[in-house]
Amino acid sequence: MTTPSVEPPQTSDRGAAIRKVVIVGGGTAGWMAAAALARHLASTDIAITVVESSEIGTVGVGEATIPTIRRFYAQLGLTDADVMSATQATCKLGIRFEGWGGPRSDFIHPFGLYGQDLNGVGFHHYWMRQAETGDATPLSAYSLGASLALANKFVEPSPNPPSSLSVFDWALHFDAALFAQRLRRYAEGSGVTRIDARIATVKLRAQDGFIDRLVLDNGREIEGDLFVDCSGFRGLLIGEALGTPYEDWGDWLACDAAYAVQTENTPGDAVAPYTRVTAHQAGWRWRIPLRHRTGNGLVFSSAHMSDDAAQAALMANLQGRPLSAPRRIDFRPGRRRQAWVKNCVALGLAAGFLEPLESTSIALIENGIERLKALFPDRDFAPAVLEEFNDQSAREMERTRDFIILHYWLNGRDEAFWRERRETAVPDTLRRKVDLWKARGAFVRYRWEMFHPASWLAIYDGLGLMPERVDPAVQGIDPVQLRQGLWGMRDAVADMVERTTSHDAFLARFGGVS
Ligand code: FAD
Repeated sequence: MTTPSVEPPQTSDRGAAIRKVVIVGGGTAGWMAAAALARHLASTDIAITVVESSEIGTVGVGEATIPTIRRFYAQLGLTDADVMSATQATCKLGIRFEGWGGPRSDFIHPFGLYGQDLNGVGFHHYWMRQAETGDATPLSAYSLGASLALANKFVEPSPNPPSSLSVFDWALHFDAALFAQRLRRYAEGSGVTRIDARIATVKLRAQDGFIDRLVLDNGREIEGDLFVDCSGFRGLLIGEALGTPYEDWGDWLACDAAYAVQTENTPGDAVAPYTRVTAHQAGWRWRIPLRHRTGNGLVFSSAHMSDDAAQAALMANLQGRPLSAPRRIDFRPGRRRQAWVKNCVALGLAAGFLEPLESTSIALIENGIERLKALFPDRDFAPAVLEEFNDQSAREMERTRDFIILHYWLNGRDEAFWRERRETAVPDTLRRKVDLWKARGAFVRYRWEMFHPASWLAIYDGLGLMPERVDPAVQGIDPVQLRQGLWGMRDAVADMVERTTSHDAFLARFGGVS
């Protein structure tokens, strides 16, 4: 158990540059922070140390990403091929939602656009106007990302707009432990020091309560100027030592536990280029295909489903042989009231958690790191720096939370858990978005949004919430021209899918699937 203890006063460090950064934790967050800071601070003599405990281990899940991960490792100079080879990765074009709108509901949230906006009017208005003429072409037929995903195909997007191949993006499903190992190699190669030990005590300075040093279980002491807390759910520094409260979002997001298990791949089965999230009576299951195995899990509300029922529902729906017994992980949706307190910045699970429905946790880590780089402090830890970091982090986390709540709010299922989700009041920030969408088919765009309008459109459409009327500018459009324009786009997408090879063929470049 860690007990904060107080040290005698020392001289002020006001205005002086940071000399030592200590990162606590060697999970995905810790090694992402170490690699990115090593790169960012390469021209300085700032020493970076990672303290992790192989005895404690990591949370051991977190395999689905969103496209920003590719920007993250590109900044380190790593290519897609480097990371895909090192992490047994597959490609991810989006997330397939099954059963969320009702028993037969099935749609993809792709990473990319639908059709083409025209004259300042969103494409969906043209599509809705066309639907009023009786055309049942689904919105997904206008998304190259969704259409490739549903056909189990994959091609890399063109970096050069306005190519029709530039309208979608992709991410990775990867083995998170292998990803952390790859980043560790990178960080250690860039001069980061790793210490494998358990932190026993966190010592605070008497004059200001800042973290002074860590005392390891072998008695060694690690001093630092800036501490980055990547210690996982427990928040060893930010929570246990500094006492930063946790804001609980359980009233909005009822799921609080998961069971996870890995299975063998089934030889000959096509590997889906998407994450599958299937609703069940009190939560949802995930399926994440990797090249050497498949990640499976079941997220549930412990108030609505027993442990036994949750495990049984997970195991009954596996497709391959389980590689271990299912592992339970409890969580609390919410965030630290402040992600940066005194000389401690929390990243990853230590900063907060949202269930992995839209694969947002690793992306939140990336953005936290970017923010830390942009606001990298001196030893005076100017209050304005902390305030800005905390404000941006809070806004981003709240916007992301609202997006997750939307999936539950719009569900079309009958079980008690799902009825309650529809009836639970949502945050005003979300209500405002949905009200505008219903009234005008438009999107409220706040700052620090992780998800763009096309993502909101995917969920609105997938769960059947469409605006009350089409944009006035589209109402009188010539129907023949409209049909020709839309069908031209639809056929171009279909043609591109036809000409694209399978996801499996793409993965063969990296050694294929085992
Ligand atoms: P951890 O992995 O828990 O690492 C904590 C580190 O701190 C470890 O190295 C540990 O040894 C160290 N530590 C702790 N205490 C001490 C101590 N006293 N002394 C020394 N070291 C210590 N995210 C996604 O983006 N996509 C997903 O698909 C996804 N799925 C998820 C599914 C579930 C069920 C859960 C719970 C999370 C999921 N996440 C997902 C989130 C993702 O797993 C995490 O964001 C990510 O792994 C980062 O974790 P972390 O590094 O913050 O913490």
